[in-house]
Amino acid sequence: MGGAPEDRSTEEIYQRLRDEDVKLTNQRRLIVRILAQCQDDHPSADELHRIVREEDPDVGLATVYRTLDLLERLDLVQTLDVGDGRTRYELATGLHQHHHLLCLQCGKIEEVDQDLLGAVEDTVEKLAGFRVVDHELKMFGVCCDCEPEEQNG
Ligand SMILES: [Zn+2]
Ligand SMILES: [Zn+2]
Ligand SMILES: [Zn+2]
Repeated sequence: MGGAPEDRSTEEIYQRLRDEDVKLTNQRRLIVRILAQCQDDHPSADELHRIVREEDPDVGLATVYRTLDLLERLDLVQTLDVGDGRTRYELATGLHQHHHLLCLQCGKIEEVDQDLLGAVEDTVEKLAGFRVVDHELKMFGVCCDCEPEEQNG
C-alpha cells in the first residue's frame, strides 16, 4: 500500500467502464480504487472484500465477485493462481511486462517489471513459427527476507 492515492490507471478504468455503458456505481468505483491501492499485494476476492468493507460496510462479497468478473471480461483485471487454492486479482498491466516471484517460505509475492524473455520469444518464433503475444511466468523460491545472508562476503 501507500504511494500515490489515485493513479492514472484508476481513471482509465473508470473511463473504460463508461465507454462500455457500465454504470459506475459508488461500490464499483470503490472496488476499483481499493484494487489499485493494494495491487502489489495480489489480493484474493475475500481479502479485497475485507478492505473494501472498512470504507463501505454495505458492499457484499457477491458484489466484489461480480465486479471482478466484469473487469476481467473487459481485460482490465487479470487473475493469478499461485497454487494455494485462491484466485488473486490485479489490474491488468499489459502484455509481457511482469512476472511473479513466489516465496515458498512466507508466501510473499514479488514482481519483476521487465519482460526478460525476448531471446526465448525469438527462439520460439524461429523454431515453431509461433508469434508470442503474451506469457505468464511464476518463479518459486525463497525471498530475501527469508534468506537474508549474503553469499558474496
Ligand atoms: Zn515477452
Ligand atoms: Zn519469504
Ligand atoms: Zn502481479
